[in-house]
Amino acid sequence: MFLKRLELAGFKSFADRTELEFVSGITAVVGPNGSGKSNISDSIRWVLGEQSAKSLRGGNMQDIIFAGSDARKAVNFSEVSLTLDNGDNALSLDFSEVTVTRRLHRNGESEYFINKQPCRLKDITELFMDTGIGKEAYSIIGQGRIEEILSTRSEDRRGIFEEASGIVKYKSRKREASKRLEETEANLVRIRDLTSELE
Ligand code: ATP
Repeated sequence: MFLKRLELAGFKSFADRTELEFVSGITAVVGPNGSGKSNISDSIRWVLGEQSAKSLRGGNMQDIIFAGSDARKAVNFSEVSLTLDNGDNALSLDFSEVTVTRRLHRNGESEYFINKQPCRLKDITELFMDTGIGKEAYSIIGQGRIEEILSTRSEDRRGIFEEASGIVKYKSRKREASKRLEETEANLVRIRDLTSELE
């Protein structure tokens, strides 16, 4: 699986629709300070489901929408699409190419798509779980992240190894199953109370 294409429109400094094609091997993005290099990696984290405006270097999520410049008016929505080659079926979808899209409108409305089909954020998060590509995964190392990894709590460091070893999805399913179990137990207690009242 590799990153094939990134399309940005109205994302931070990318006011116009911009398409970046990646080939296999190493791609370097170079440019002067403030020209938008980090905005590219921000857009990748964002389309993968980042929910923290702070980690995208903004105050609120709408800050990622192109805010206008001397020459251009602000836009009303931001859209990013990330296309991955899935020839090796690393993503559990029966497509050789997978495109995930995220759109955010100024009124706060969010939309997510997988191969142009509307979906939930959860579907995108689950699709990338244990692939090393998710928003928290080790494949995106932002500025200062290496220091953070080295100095962080051992539990957080362990999370990185868990993602790499592919057990995150099982932990997440266990969490959901435990929650359902607790709810069922609470329902059982209620039923027992009701039957003892009726007896
Ligand atoms: P450096 O080399 O200094 O790290 P960089 O190339 O990584 O810089 P970025 O941090 O990606 O640059 O881009 C910063 C630029 O993006 C700034 O000029 C900022 O004004 C612009 N920018 C950020 N958010 C928006 C927005 N919502 N609308 C318009 N421009 C934005």
